[in-house]
Amino acid sequence: MPETLTNLINNEQVPAASGALIDVVEPATGAVHARIPDSDASDIDAAVAAAKSAFPAWAQTPPAERSRLLLRLADLIERDLERLARAESIDSGKPIALARSVDIPRAAANFRFFATAILHTESAAHQSNLPGPGGAVQALNFTLRKPRGVAGLISPWNLPLYLLTWKIAPAIATGNTAVAKPSEVTPLTAFMLGELALEAGFPPGVLNIVHGRGATAGAPLVSHPDVPTVSFTGGTETGRAIAHAGADTFKRISLELGGKNPNLVFADADMDEAVATSVRAAFTNQGQICLCGSRLLVERSIHDEFVDRLVADAKARRLGDPLDESTEHGALVSEDHLAKVDSYVQLARELGGEIRCGGARAEAPNDRCANGAFYKPTVITGLDPACRPQQEEIFGPVVTVTPFDSDDDAIAIANSTPYGLASMVWTSDLSRAHRVADRIDSAIVWVNCWMLRDLRTPFGGMKHSGLGREGGKDALNFFTEPKNVCIKL
Ligand code: NDP
Repeated sequence: MPETLTNLINNEQVPAASGALIDVVEPATGAVHARIPDSDASDIDAAVAAAKSAFPAWAQTPPAERSRLLLRLADLIERDLERLARAESIDSGKPIALARSVDIPRAAANFRFFATAILHTESAAHQSNLPGPGGAVQALNFTLRKPRGVAGLISPWNLPLYLLTWKIAPAIATGNTAVAKPSEVTPLTAFMLGELALEAGFPPGVLNIVHGRGATAGAPLVSHPDVPTVSFTGGTETGRAIAHAGADTFKRISLELGGKNPNLVFADADMDEAVATSVRAAFTNQGQICLCGSRLLVERSIHDEFVDRLVADAKARRLGDPLDESTEHGALVSEDHLAKVDSYVQLARELGGEIRCGGARAEAPNDRCANGAFYKPTVITGLDPACRPQQEEIFGPVVTVTPFDSDDDAIAIANSTPYGLASMVWTSDLSRAHRVADRIDSAIVWVNCWMLRDLRTPFGGMKHSGLGREGGKDALNFFTEPKNVCIKL
């Protein structure tokens, strides 16, 4: 029997007020494995009311006590690493080894990072000596940073617990209360996080988790008059709708959106490293990471050799049951998503692209997965950089490769999409690394590496990849209101 999950509202585990449920499908098998509340505006109202009434006391709670609770939650996530990793793998189709080594440890790290960050914050003070009508006026300005109230937190399905906790941790660490709406597609670890928050001993209303669809639960959260702050990670079109919806009530909104990240490989790069990491950058989590390097640009003199090695490595990836320990390449998140990915590959074919490997649904790795959404790692060459498969986010195990002839050429192609999230540069020439990094229109540039993340650094996107930055001080500032006090001396 599929497990029936509940919302967490005011520390109570409750169904949707309507009683309606949504089936949750395991993408590797096609079977329903859980049901979640199909929440609507009335559930969001109840969660926001609980968060609003918890806010004054939580905002006044000493940072050391908030920190203690967040650290306790991090400990509990680590204690339950195995359970959480298994749930994440079942829910999303990602290899369990990936969930165990990346997703769940990062969720614990998110709580640890912000639990300790709030113990070390500073605010500015300005000793002022200003001209006045009767001579110089002395004053002291100092800036307070206050939590803003109820934060609405909305996250996608690709890194479910990782991204949800990346929002919850800074929001509640800084003294806000939260209403989180995880993706309806991958709700399991969010539900389990709610159980762990209860065990950790958070006061009622500090963290509320409401399951449901974007249109019926996410939208009322974004437009709610008692939610001044919204942090959203997801697709660019949804981000646009959220920006519109939040404008009416002047919300502070952070948007982490899609990417079409260029990966530039120059002829002087360390070929072994560049190939191995480019394969990981293209196919980790079946290509369903906003930071994936889905557009490879390779200097013409090494293009053919690079593509041969890339294709060999792509074919060698161990596709399998996500719950199998040795699997490197699991299932896509759903049949619908597989159809979308495949439609881009078909379009690439029609546009004259050469499918160098993959380009089709993969055979099921075992009987359990007979109805799973498996798609082969796919490498495509010969496409115009301006065509749709090279411009639009496919968000699957598909990488296009395009040759370039000079630094200027590479940068022009790299900057030719509406996106500006991340990029990679492979070169052994330090000056070139600096020059190219400076000219690429992306908010994150990795040189000779990919997805090396220091949580203190600004994380986000430019152009249509987002608004605002998460991480480090940016997150602490986003979730707090600066208030300047000027005292005439
Ligand atoms: P979506 O934009 O479809 O959904 C993201 C979340 O928003 C889900 O919880 C969704 O609910 C909810 N939602 C949908 N419509 C609304 C609405 N009108 N109002 C409020 N909430 C809404 O993205 P996906 O889940 O498909 O995730 C994939 C996308 O996320 C990709 O484009 C990827 O690039 C991006 N992403 C960006 C990252 C970044 O940091 N820049 C990181 C990871 C992913 P429901 O699931 O019920 O539809």
